[in-house]
Amino acid sequence: MRVLVTGGAGYIGSVVTEELVRDGHEVVVYDSLYKGHRGAVVAGAEFVEADLMDGERLRRAFREQRTEAVIHMAADSLVGESVTNPSKYYRNNVIAGLALLDAMHDCEVRRLVFSSTAATYGEPEKQPIEESDPTNPTNTYGQTKLAFEHALPWYERAHGIRHASLRYFNAAGATRHCGEMHDPETHLIPIILQAAAGKRDAVEIYGEDYPTRDGTCVRDYIHVVDLARAHILALSILDTHSAVYNLGCGGDGYTVKEVIDATRAVTGREIKVKVGARRPGDPAFLVASSARIKHDLNWSPQFQDLNLIIESAWHWMQSHPDGYAG
Ligand code: UDP
Repeated sequence: MRVLVTGGAGYIGSVVTEELVRDGHEVVVYDSLYKGHRGAVVAGAEFVEADLMDGERLRRAFREQRTEAVIHMAADSLVGESVTNPSKYYRNNVIAGLALLDAMHDCEVRRLVFSSTAATYGEPEKQPIEESDPTNPTNTYGQTKLAFEHALPWYERAHGIRHASLRYFNAAGATRHCGEMHDPETHLIPIILQAAAGKRDAVEIYGEDYPTRDGTCVRDYIHVVDLARAHILALSILDTHSAVYNLGCGGDGYTVKEVIDATRAVTGREIKVKVGARRPGDPAFLVASSARIKHDLNWSPQFQDLNLIIESAWHWMQSHPDGYAG
C-alpha cells in the first residue's frame, strides 16, 4: 500500500515506518522536524519536510505518491505543557488534524490510522480499561486527542474516510536503529536509563502515596514494535469499517518502583532515586484491556516481559549516546 506517515521522524513514527518498509509498503514520511529528527527517517522511505498546515504541500504529496492511506502520528504530547498551553495543543492536535482530513478528502484518500492515547480515559472507574469505558480526560492533551477522535465518524459519514483510532498506553523500548529521544525528556524509562548512564543524578518518583501495591503509579508498558505492528494490522480493516482499539500488554502493569528495579537488574548500574510530589493529572492506575484488537486483528504483544523492553531501550541508548545527533 502507498502510505503517508505524519510524524514519521518521531519516536513511534520512525518504528512504524521501519515496519511498513520491511513489509514492502511504499512510504512517505511527512514531518516538519519541529520535534522529529532527520536521522530518524528510515532508509527506504521518501521524506517530505513540511508542516501539516501547509495544505498545498500536503495535497501535492498525496497526489505525487497516489497515497492510499495515512497514519497520523504528528502531535504534541506533553501532558504538563498541554495544561499550561492549551492553545498549542488545540492548534497542533485538532486544527492541524482537521487540515489533514480536509486534504485527504480533497485528494480522495479514505483510510486513516490515528495515534490516540489512554489519556482519553482520564481517571478510569475500573481496570483494565475497555474501549467502551467513559472518556473523561484530565488534561488538554487527552482532550485534544479525543476531540479529533470525535471528528472522525463525521468525516466518515460525510466523506467516506474510514479510521482506526489506536489508544496507546505507555510506549517504550527501541529497535536497533530507532529509539526514544525527546528534549526535554519526560518519560519514565528513558529518564531512568539516563540515570543509569550517569547522565542525571537521580530519578524523581512523582509521589509514593497512591493507592497501589507500593504507593507509586501503575502503568502498562508496551514495546514500540508491538505498537507499530498494530498500525499495520489496523490498515487492513479500513476497506470495510472503522474502529477504536486500546493498545497495551494488560496484566497487572508495573509500578514506577518496579520499573526502576527492573532497570537496575537489566543495566547492572546503581540508580539513585528521590521521592517528590505527585505530578498533576497523573491517574494512579492505567492498564489496558486489549481484548478487542486481539480478537478482531489477531494482534498480540511479542514483548510482554518488561526486562526485554528496557533492554532494547538500553542498547539503543548505548549505541546512540548523542541520540540522532551522533
Ligand atoms: N514518572 C516518575 N518520574 C519521572 C517520570 C515519570 O515518577 O521522572 C512516573 C509518572 O508519574 C507516571 C509514570 O512514571 O506515573 C509514567 O510516566 P510517563 O511520563 O513515562 O508516561 P505517562 O503515563 O504520563 O504517559
